[in-house]
Amino acid sequence: MLESVYGKTIADWITEFPLMKPLMEGAAVTWFNPAVVPVAQALDDIPLTAADVADASARLARFAPYLATVFPEVEQAGGIIESELIRVDRFARQVEQRYAVQQPVSLLLKKDSHLPIAGSVKARGGIYEVLYHAEQLALRHGLLNLTDDYRILAQPAARDLFRRHKIAVGSTGNLGMSIGISAARLGFDTTVHMSSDARQWKKDKLRSHGVTVVEYAGDYGQAVEQGRQDAEKDPSCHFIDDENSSTLFLGYAVAGERLKAQLTQAGIRVDAGHPLFVYLPCGVGGGPGGIAFGLKLAFGDHVHCIFAEPTQSPCMLMGVYTGLHDQLAVQDFGITNLTAADGLAVGRPSGFVGRAMQRMIDGYYTLPDDELFALLYLMQETEQLQLEPSALAGAAGFARVLAEQQGYRQGLGLSEAAWANAHHLIWATGGGMVPATEYAAYLATGKRVIPQTAG
Ligand SMILES: *Cc1c(COP(=O)(O)O)cnc(C)c1O
Repeated sequence: MLESVYGKTIADWITEFPLMKPLMEGAAVTWFNPAVVPVAQALDDIPLTAADVADASARLARFAPYLATVFPEVEQAGGIIESELIRVDRFARQVEQRYAVQQPVSLLLKKDSHLPIAGSVKARGGIYEVLYHAEQLALRHGLLNLTDDYRILAQPAARDLFRRHKIAVGSTGNLGMSIGISAARLGFDTTVHMSSDARQWKKDKLRSHGVTVVEYAGDYGQAVEQGRQDAEKDPSCHFIDDENSSTLFLGYAVAGERLKAQLTQAGIRVDAGHPLFVYLPCGVGGGPGGIAFGLKLAFGDHVHCIFAEPTQSPCMLMGVYTGLHDQLAVQDFGITNLTAADGLAVGRPSGFVGRAMQRMIDGYYTLPDDELFALLYLMQETEQLQLEPSALAGAAGFARVLAEQQGYRQGLGLSEAAWANAHHLIWATGGGMVPATEYAAYLATGKRVIPQTAG
């Protein structure tokens, strides 16, 4: 048993921060952040603006014709990498039953699990940063003007340039997949540093794309650190830093305007009488943080973002709750950071994201791995939708919100009518690329645990 952490006894930690006790016990925790303020104010914490997101969006538009040429997966979509928005009513009914939710909800699901090229939410941030870097290089070497048709980048001159440059990243899997596959396809010399919890099939797949995979016995933090050090020694190498990259963050943020257009098209209103609650699985924080930023820019105070983490990797909850952010790792408190949700197996949150979003994210909750598997199984049974465990973290969120603990609804100033008319959206972050045998094993686990777990 731990006696003290950073000079404070565990008893003192718990006195000062009572939720540390259930967190350390691995219990499912829900916390609504009392420090949340209106968007107009919360934006002050973020060193980025709507103009930066518009710039990212414009860059993706410039690249679209090129992407449509080099990635057959997005040819039909005109080179725009985007996922479907669907209703999951059958799943909603099952989950309401499971968690004893009294009123039926309007439940939507964002299928980032099936984003082209990478099969996960990382197709947003990861590919965007690769493109950003490619553009900078091509501009600097006089091979490109901003007004050019970007298909010029598929020509030998640009490909030669990319071949002489390296891109490296540290990853638990999906970021490595999105950056590895896309950077290698553009022609970059690409290395992915992977932690022990990364799945074997992801390593195999990357290698089949010509990516160098370096494996580590340690966790995500170690893989990143080693990758970063290697890259620093090599000026031709660009290291993509998941914990601190504002480029990555902006790639994710473009999701806000994209979702807004999809909701409008589906005839779904988001306004004071129809708030939108969005549940985002959180690892290091860049993905959900960037998306939440984009959502706040798109919907203002009518959107409410909630982050979800495994009980053994509650790093963002802990960081924001204590205000100590990346100064703390879950392992400091004897929490294992061992979870089947490999996309969320992060022990130390991004300090950049935690600080930037600390007055903007309404709440955080944790759920055990068994519950991820149970939800995975229900998702298959009801919607025939294949997701990976990480992607289910958000699926329990509406039950936590509707439980109205800690006076959440009243704190938001929402009427009962607005509460009843709310839409809830699960951001399903990955799974489209999971091989059939892996997925069958996930389903079998889900089927086994489903009667035993809940809540
Ligand atoms: C990476 C990932 C997340 C979380 O993104 P972070 O930027 O690490 O917070 C969620 N789900 C899946 C499937 C992921 O791969």
